[in-house]
Amino acid sequence: MYTKVPTSLNFVDREKEILQFWKENRIFEKSCELRKGRPAYTFYDGPPTANGKPHIGHILTRAMKDIIPRYRTMKGYDVLRKAGWDTHGLPVELEVEKMLGLDGKKQIEAYGVEPFIAKCKESIWKYKTEWEQMSDRVGYWADMEHPYVTYEDNYIESEWWALKTIYEKGLLYKGHKVVPYCPRCGTALASHEVAQGYKDVKEISATVRFKCTDEDASYLAWTTTPWTLPSNVCLCVNADIVYCRAEKDGEAFILAKDLVEKVLGEDAKIVREFAGSELVGRTYEPLFECTAKAAAKTGKKGFRIVADDYVSADDGTGIVHNAPAFGEDDYRVCRDNDIPFVQMVDARGNMTEDTPWAGTFVKKADPMILKDLKESGALFAEIPFEHSYPFCWRCDTPLLYYARPTWFIRMTALKDNLVRNNRTINWMPENIKEGRMGTWLENVHDWGLSRERYWGTPLPVWKCSCGNMHVVGSRAELREMAIEDPGADLELHRPFIDAVKLRCEKCGGEMVRDKAVIDCWYDSGSMPFAQWHYPFEHQEEFQQNFPANFISEAIDQTRGWFFTLHAIASMLFDSVAFKNIISNGLVLDKNGNKMSKRLGNAVDPFEVLDTYGADATRWYMISNSQPWDNLKFDRDGVDEVRRKFFGTLYNTYSFFALYANVDGFTGREEEVPMEKRPEIDRWIISLLNTLVKEVTD
Ligand code: ZN
Ligand code: ZN
Repeated sequence: MYTKVPTSLNFVDREKEILQFWKENRIFEKSCELRKGRPAYTFYDGPPTANGKPHIGHILTRAMKDIIPRYRTMKGYDVLRKAGWDTHGLPVELEVEKMLGLDGKKQIEAYGVEPFIAKCKESIWKYKTEWEQMSDRVGYWADMEHPYVTYEDNYIESEWWALKTIYEKGLLYKGHKVVPYCPRCGTALASHEVAQGYKDVKEISATVRFKCTDEDASYLAWTTTPWTLPSNVCLCVNADIVYCRAEKDGEAFILAKDLVEKVLGEDAKIVREFAGSELVGRTYEPLFECTAKAAAKTGKKGFRIVADDYVSADDGTGIVHNAPAFGEDDYRVCRDNDIPFVQMVDARGNMTEDTPWAGTFVKKADPMILKDLKESGALFAEIPFEHSYPFCWRCDTPLLYYARPTWFIRMTALKDNLVRNNRTINWMPENIKEGRMGTWLENVHDWGLSRERYWGTPLPVWKCSCGNMHVVGSRAELREMAIEDPGADLELHRPFIDAVKLRCEKCGGEMVRDKAVIDCWYDSGSMPFAQWHYPFEHQEEFQQNFPANFISEAIDQTRGWFFTLHAIASMLFDSVAFKNIISNGLVLDKNGNKMSKRLGNAVDPFEVLDTYGADATRWYMISNSQPWDNLKFDRDGVDEVRRKFFGTLYNTYSFFALYANVDGFTGREEEVPMEKRPEIDRWIISLLNTLVKEVTD
């Protein structure tokens, strides 16, 4: 007998019964156990953070992450589906700071790093129940009972192994990274934090003379931040822009031809024109003696003209003053041209001891510096101007773009491998391969890996005052080199790990750990091996499940998790990390706007699931448009799917069950052999098999 089904459209209750049935009978676990030893099909779960609530977009990603593995299971594959949690990082720290009423790093350290990270560890599970409930409710089949967790010591140890391998390949180095930095909090800010604090401010900008050393003239350059001038070490032009020597009131200047009238006025006379490329290599006199001294110490040659495409003739003078310590482009240009690195501002935002303005906060030093430039004759013009400037959202201090010592992974050295491996990945949609991802890889930057924070995977680098450096690749190695054995059960986080001193192999002295923790994106990108505690354990499991056959997350992960997985796999194994990928679109509101709590247009996923059911919601999301297109989420659309698609399906089945039971019809082929069936039966069976073939293809 066929089971009769109610024809009401109350799918929600029936789904809950099914979920209960799955759970009581361990259906998911059985579906896996039954296929043990069959060909493997591997899925990697992109780990969410459980210290944020799941939103409606996560239903789409969970649905997609369920459909393909479930389909493969139904086709007889042994499908590994280990859930994961992303647990480190600044957002966790900020939440704990807020909760404890702490403000900045000084107060964290006064509170104590040990209790602080204990709170972090607690805080990351804040919404774990919501995540589990949501995953459960949408029928996401994954092993949530044995998840990988990025803060666990075994996970960290695998990352250490990888970092040591990367170091031994010559790909780990220490440099500087220019970051938006709050000098009061003593920390870099993430881009979303910077975006919160813009204000319109009135400031004085300056056009400054840089005296040529080989011609009786001055280069003119304009700056909105006079406090960066004592750290000026080069001037940058664009090789393709036309520059000129222009004279006015008996004085000669060099600047972009198109800006002569704007900068010098109508009565200036252009006496000679030349391409920016002709200026390259020429030199000028340093503005300040302190800068000249600091530059000389580096042994490199500064105060030269260099060229780069980022310079335009849209404003200023067409010549850009470069201070590598305070601008991303400046830093890049100076590094590429081997210009000295000079930083005349300390980490609290004050002018350093080496300058005439020692101890003065940069913004307060602005007028003093301008006054000194006026006296020396270097100041050409002061121009008041208004602009939008970022302030710290926490303490309202103006942010500085400031170079901090940072550990990098030399991704630029691996560009060809990254590009080549990416070409073998089956991207859905296809245009991401050469588009968003391809372009990103073609222009790949070195990966700024370290963070001057507390709650993260500690960078396993120890240094000695003799200059020796050692990267630790395992707990065993740590214990072997430690001056005092920290024991087998040492927690690898700060502050515990900071207390471990190593014996220097070179001089026998004491090596101290570099206090940095690393980017939590490195954690999640390490999951292919770290989830197995590879290479310390489970070597076979790792080999069998690498690379993944399938991954899927939203498109905003292209430069996040998709990239870090790809980057780390290329570095360690010169392999892809995944062979097939569906990059989902974003879920927007029905008018196509981004959902946000602030705008009040965010949709509660639980409320939707409880109103229309998971089947209708999932089906709506994957069939309304291609999953990689952005979805304008419309509740009416979900309701329509519920009524028309699922309603029709149920009614059809219910009609069939009723009459099949009356007629005693079983549908078994031996009862009604194919050749005895009417043509319409054979037609519909053929249609079914065609469908199966098409879906399989
Ligand atoms: Zn601050
Ligand atoms: Zn040493």
